[in-house]
This record gives sequence, C-alpha cells and structure tokens, in this order.
Amino acid sequence: MAIEGNVLYVYRCAECKHRGEVHHPDDSHDGEASTCSTCGAPVTLEWDGGVTFDTPKSLADEAIARARERKG
Ligand SMILES: [Zn+2]
Repeated sequence: MAIEGNVLYVYRCAECKHRGEVHHPDDSHDGEASTCSTCGAPVTLEWDGGVTFDTPKSLADEAIARARERKG
C-alpha cells in the first residue's frame, strides 16, 4: 500500500456520517470533491491545518513515554 501524501484532509459524509481522512502530497486540495470510502457518496475535502500523518503518532509516543516515566 503506497503512501499517497503527507497533507491530511478530512471529510464528513452527509449520507452515512462517516468521518474520513485522505492524504495528498500538497495543500491545494482544500474544498476538492472526493468520495466517501464507506458508502461512495460525494464528499468535500477539508484541509486539516496542514497536520502530517506522523504528527499524531509522535504525540502518542510522547504521551506513552510520559506515562511510563510516571510509573517509574
Ligand atoms: Zn458515506
């Protein structure tokens, strides 16, 4: 499975309420039409503040490290 890009876009499907995430290599896709991965309905992409896909993981790793420090 190829990595499509590192700019995160989110959408909320009006049909099934699915909240999806899509990655593109650049930030020019805000407002672009896409397709719900769950039901196939048309959705509109919203740029998610330029957060890259590895930021949440970094924050999670940091939180885990802190929790381990507390436990000693
Ligand atoms: Zn849907």
